[in-house]
Amino acid sequence: MKLSISNLSKTYANGVEALKNISLTIPAGMFGLLGPNGAGKSTLMRTLATLQEADSGSVFLGELDVLDEKDAVRRMLGYLPQDFGLYPKVSPYELLDHFAVLKGLSDKRRRKEVVLGLLHQTNLYDVRNKQLGGFSGGMRQRFGIAQALLGDPKLIIVDEPTAGLDPEERVRFHNLLSDIGDDKIVILSTHIVSDVADLCSQMAVINQGQLLLTGEPMQQVAAIQGKIWARFIAKSELPAYGQKHSVISTRLLAGRTRIHVYSDEHPGDGFEPVAGDLEDVYFAAIAGCDTRRPAAVLA
Ligand code: ADP
Repeated sequence: MKLSISNLSKTYANGVEALKNISLTIPAGMFGLLGPNGAGKSTLMRTLATLQEADSGSVFLGELDVLDEKDAVRRMLGYLPQDFGLYPKVSPYELLDHFAVLKGLSDKRRRKEVVLGLLHQTNLYDVRNKQLGGFSGGMRQRFGIAQALLGDPKLIIVDEPTAGLDPEERVRFHNLLSDIGDDKIVILSTHIVSDVADLCSQMAVINQGQLLLTGEPMQQVAAIQGKIWARFIAKSELPAYGQKHSVISTRLLAGRTRIHVYSDEHPGDGFEPVAGDLEDVYFAAIAGCDTRRPAAVLA
């Protein structure tokens, strides 16, 4: 099964064009939707999760018309929103059990089995009877995944799940997501490139409501080899370099300013070639570079 998005557009009442004619095919497996804050990711995720209307376009989950047959889609959907409230005084066991009842798991024994299984899967079994109010960000997100997995959904949408997690919790969360299974469509929306680099077999980059690229991360990285150049500069030189070169990123490295530029040919000016990574793919796309052109042959 795949999710086919065609010509999806959404303009908010305040005039912001959050989605501009997005067409995208999302196969089974882990799909990374990458974009900076304000790109339109949540708008797209909420639309796919049937929580918000689009202005035009269509979305099909297999044969199912997602924008039209909302109830049917909801039965196949697991959703972890960007912000969600938890009842602080209840335990993960109680709340998951409650959600399971809402999902239609009426058989008590079967429900207990499912709930305990999910608590094991998300590494929350040991704290199953503690109050959710005392949970860390990582534990909350793992609980979010547990509730999203109730009812064995075929489409799972997780919106910015790793924002605010510390590195150890992020790794834990990545491991949890990577175990969900290849037969489901899992859409991970994030502004963190390493989430996609670590987890996703397919990806898309959006910015200002527009789809900038889509494909396999590894292929995208291969396509920019020979085109990324780097050097240290004085911070004050940045505007001058920005005028002359296609600067895609500026980073601090050990307190010094290092810029990456995108160029088919050696840009001169003391630049050295570097192996491009997914971060370069992302920044080049955001900067408007056409990374789909064939790579220049290095002299
Ligand atoms: P992201 O999830 O990538 O940060 P969003 O989908 O939340 O992006 O937002 C995309 C754009 O739409 C932003 O400019 C945001 O300010 C705007 N936006 C989001 N929700 C609303 C809303 N309910 N009303 C008006 N503008 C909105």
